[in-house]
Amino acid sequence: AINNTDRLVSLVNDILDLERISSGKSELHSAMVSAEEVLRKAVSAQQARTPKPSARIFYAANGVTVYADPDRVLQALNNLLSNAIKFSPAGGEIHLSARNLDDQEALFEVRDQGRGIPEDKLEYIFDRFQQGDASDTRILGGTGLGLAICRSIVNQHGGRIWATSTPGKGTTFHFTLPTKPRTNLR
Ligand code: ADP
Repeated sequence: AINNTDRLVSLVNDILDLERISSGKSELHSAMVSAEEVLRKAVSAQQARTPKPSARIFYAANGVTVYADPDRVLQALNNLLSNAIKFSPAGGEIHLSARNLDDQEALFEVRDQGRGIPEDKLEYIFDRFQQGDASDTRILGGTGLGLAICRSIVNQHGGRIWATSTPGKGTTFHFTLPTKPRTNLR
């Protein structure tokens, strides 16, 4: 009963979050944020939830700072990291990284060695309630809303999010965030 209630509460929260973000009712509280700090928080939150994950998690922030809402970035990373763990084989490695693309944008990546995602599903998994494999809900849990939430968060920051994958070898989720406040030239 407790498990089912937890699942229901997280489904309702996901729906509310998505609605708030897409309707523009959730404002961003952006500030200069250290990527190191936010990656470290994502990893330790994950370790608190799954004390002995079957995969090993590594992160490298390369001194990156972004202009973003730290709570929202953490929410996106938590979603990507919990998916990576969910789909990782025992003994697999998960790598989180951030690096500067140019002086405007930084690129974050979450890479796993899981089963991968077929090419024709790479875009579709970001839609609401879409799951790569219809049996995922039954076996692995989840609502199919995590990636839709990640996409709204990243888009709200003016960034992009996409996935690349080699089926059988692993998946990488990539997203970009601004490294400075946008200057509006008038
Ligand atoms: P869910 O709640 O089902 O995890 P998401 O929106 O987070 O919903 O993910 C949608 C679907 O994308 C998942 O059901 C799964 O099929 C696929 N997916 C997401 N992350 C990964 C990953 N790291 N490896 C393989 N498949 C993934």
